Amino acid sequence: AAAPAAPAPLRSAPLEDIRGAGTWKSERVIASRQGPHLRLAGGGGGIINFCANNYLGLSSHPEVIRAAVEALEKFGAGLSSVRFICGTQSIHKDLEEKIARFHQREDAILYASCFDANAGIFEALLTPEDAVLSDELNHASIIDGIRLCKANKYRYKHMDMQDLEAKLQEAQKHRLRLVATDGAFSMDGDIAPLREICQLAQKYDALVFIDECHATGFLGPNGRGTDELLGVMDKVTIVNSTLGKALGGAAGGYTTGPKLLIDLLRQRSRPYLFSNSLPPAVVGCASKALDLLMESNAIAQSMAAKTQRFRSKMTAAGFTISGKDHPICPVMLGDARLASVMAEDMLNRGIYVIGFSYPVVPKGKARIRVQISAVHSDEDIDRCVEAFTEVGRKHGALP
Ligand code: PLP
Repeated sequence: AAAPAAPAPLRSAPLEDIRGAGTWKSERVIASRQGPHLRLAGGGGGIINFCANNYLGLSSHPEVIRAAVEALEKFGAGLSSVRFICGTQSIHKDLEEKIARFHQREDAILYASCFDANAGIFEALLTPEDAVLSDELNHASIIDGIRLCKANKYRYKHMDMQDLEAKLQEAQKHRLRLVATDGAFSMDGDIAPLREICQLAQKYDALVFIDECHATGFLGPNGRGTDELLGVMDKVTIVNSTLGKALGGAAGGYTTGPKLLIDLLRQRSRPYLFSNSLPPAVVGCASKALDLLMESNAIAQSMAAKTQRFRSKMTAAGFTISGKDHPICPVMLGDARLASVMAEDMLNRGIYVIGFSYPVVPKGKARIRVQISAVHSDEDIDRCVEAFTEVGRKHGALP
């Protein structure tokens, strides 16, 4: 029998609208492991990859892979259950304990993704008597999580402390205030002013929540994140982060913070209560990644040195790189078409980078985002800078 066709409204709009707006997202198929060098399906190998969140290169680390295989063999493929019915194994409890220790918090709770952790926390914690104050450029999953809760919503201008203070004053009438921000913002590579945010939170009796997806494992002297980098680990109450980026890259997310809050999430957080437990192999990957990071900060330091190499060479070549000291290095170009043709031409030269334009970033602020990893060699970085310089000259982005 023929497969059912799509319903009539889907046959034209909205897909045609998406194509017409030039915002169609296509996916390149990778035929190798994630890593600094890739083979694309149907194409040659030898592509140098600068667009994964594999900041520490742990996605294909041999010890991480071995830990996953061992967990798979010992604990099976999966639990066929949510956590509270028949889905908690000793490895889940061990990983939660390890995450809390890594972040120096009381407890932690695992989710299938950080998207789920963000979707679950606001509704579980906040009531209609409370208020949440959110940076306007927060990640989509924070925005969706906030939409799901019944608290009063305030949106402050990106990293604008005057605006946050004004909104905190307005929110004094509510029972509880929660300031929510990304620790590091993934489009600009900029870092939230957490010291100032925590000072304001103290002044106006608010809690601070940070999403550390682009910080955990590598920001701060020991890779604990933005709160360590800015010296406010004791002032940020709630940290959400992912196991799907620097911490092995498999999947999974978590909340870490006060034990009472984690207890509440286990009782009330819907993505936790109504979704399957993390598969053992995934738990094995993350657990080993954390072991490696707690043993030594050498990997994080090597990534920082490579980031510094890329940023300084690109700046010397005449490019503007947004953000500061972060492995997300947006090469600012302005024009959407320029970003798109340059990214295509970079791939022709074996360098895989992605152009971003409106509506993902504001109009007139198109860019190519480069992400540095600890497993890039100095030669990889230099080849990327050379290709940018050639392609930039060819398309008029450089004199
Ligand atoms: N928060 C931020 C800032 C992110 O960049 C992402 C991933 O893109 C997420 C949350 C979601 O993380 P996960 O992939 O674990 O669902």
